[in-house]
Amino acid sequence: MSAVKSFVKDNIEYYQLFIQCPVYLKEGRPTTPAYWYHSKDGKEMYIGDNGYYYCKDCGYTAPVIEWGYECCDCKQAGHEKAVVLDDLKHVAEAVSISGMVATTGAGLKWLSRVANALAQQC
Ligand SMILES: [Zn+2]
Ligand SMILES: [Zn+2]
Repeated sequence: MSAVKSFVKDNIEYYQLFIQCPVYLKEGRPTTPAYWYHSKDGKEMYIGDNGYYYCKDCGYTAPVIEWGYECCDCKQAGHEKAVVLDDLKHVAEAVSISGMVATTGAGLKWLSRVANALAQQC
């Protein structure tokens, strides 16, 4: 594993986003966890324990509920644009089973703060 990608900004702890596609998870077709990239610039996405995604490169940040997802399989399925989920259950599930805690160094307390933040957006 390469260096742990994480940082703290304004008291928010961010880890590089490494999850399976929550759209496919919702459809009962789990995929392999992967890193995600900002559609605007192709740069690495991070998730903070405030329940926001954050592109460290361009600085864009927004609540997880506002984001869409488009993995390679989603593109092949012919979706015209990124799929926005109407609840965050499968995002929370994807984060908790992705191995982010094991592989990136994120802790269980971080994970529970993320889950609480996502629950408040639903
Ligand atoms: Zn960006
Ligand atoms: Zn997908």
